Amino acid sequence: ELILAIETSCDETAAAVIEGGTVIRSNVVASQIESHKRFGGVVPEIASRHHVEQITIVIEEALQQAGVEKKDLDAIAVTQGPGLIGALLVGVNAAKALAFSIGKPLIGVHHIAGHIYANRLEQEFAFPLLALVVSGGHTELVLMKEHGSFEVIGETRDDAAGEAYDKVARTLQLPYPGGPRIDKLAAEGKESIDFPRAWLESESYDFSFSGLKSAVINTLHNAKQKGETYPPADVAASFQASVIEVLVGKTLRAAEEYGAKQVIVAGGVAANSGLRAALEQAFADKQADLLIPPLALCTDNAAMIGAAASISYHQGKFADLAMNARASMPL
Ligand code: ATP
Ligand code: MG
Ligand code: FE
Repeated sequence: ELILAIETSCDETAAAVIEGGTVIRSNVVASQIESHKRFGGVVPEIASRHHVEQITIVIEEALQQAGVEKKDLDAIAVTQGPGLIGALLVGVNAAKALAFSIGKPLIGVHHIAGHIYANRLEQEFAFPLLALVVSGGHTELVLMKEHGSFEVIGETRDDAAGEAYDKVARTLQLPYPGGPRIDKLAAEGKESIDFPRAWLESESYDFSFSGLKSAVINTLHNAKQKGETYPPADVAASFQASVIEVLVGKTLRAAEEYGAKQVIVAGGVAANSGLRAALEQAFADKQADLLIPPLALCTDNAAMIGAAASISYHQGKFADLAMNARASMPL
């Protein structure tokens, strides 16, 4: 089947055509990073306006690159939530209008299901599957026993991993988005500062990153008052080491407890080179197969939304034209 998928939950206007759930016929992403950079983060009103300006162009481009006409499509999929409500509405309304005009079904997709299904564009899933979701707004361990079923076994109690990266980057006066900057800087630094590891209760799969973020801010502040400085690369390396140790440690333990056949990584922070390397090393001699998506499929895109929508299509799970965008939405 051919699905046109649309994603506008945050600051990328994206559309893709996916065939049979796994073949990318086109994957177009218009990023707004340049417009938000000078504000140090995503400004919701600006994001919505850009989506309105870009959405039609991006959809046409996706169809053209795929060599597909609207009448060839079998369904229209769109990110229903979670995300910025004004941003989501642009995609949802475009999807509804298109589905109505060509008389094809509409599929609402959870953004995080999309991030997880980005991996299926690379390799078929094997269950039980454990997904480590690490993005700008989410940090969770998700257990999947079959397609389209998601059980959250642990999640962050405060900041998401990507959010912590972005906040620490801002403290180091690095431009937005900070994650990739810290990643690069960390590779040049030494782990000379002993930041805390938030393991929480010994049996818990939950995460917490706000204590680490505060520790970084306090360490820099105290040093400054004494007229001392830390090399930013060392701060980045030490911060990243703390994040990675906890993410990898909990993922390993969960994979063993649930007998995961596959462990996949999803979300923007899956692009982190330190995390990728640490996971590869940790799972090298383990039963579970490790899957990490290519960089372009880690951050927001519509191909992943089409991949997740294909499962709903085959399960007959369609939305009606009264579907609403949802700022928050359970997986
Ligand atoms: P969500 O998916 O939870 O709704 P989002 O869509 O904003 O949030 P993504 O686009 O999946 O998040 O990921 C963006 C996040 O990934 C940002 O916080 C960014 O800093 C982080 N990120 C991107 N590349 C890297 C990297 N190489 N290292 C660390 N973090 C990174
Ligand atoms: Mg983004
Ligand atoms: Fe995302």
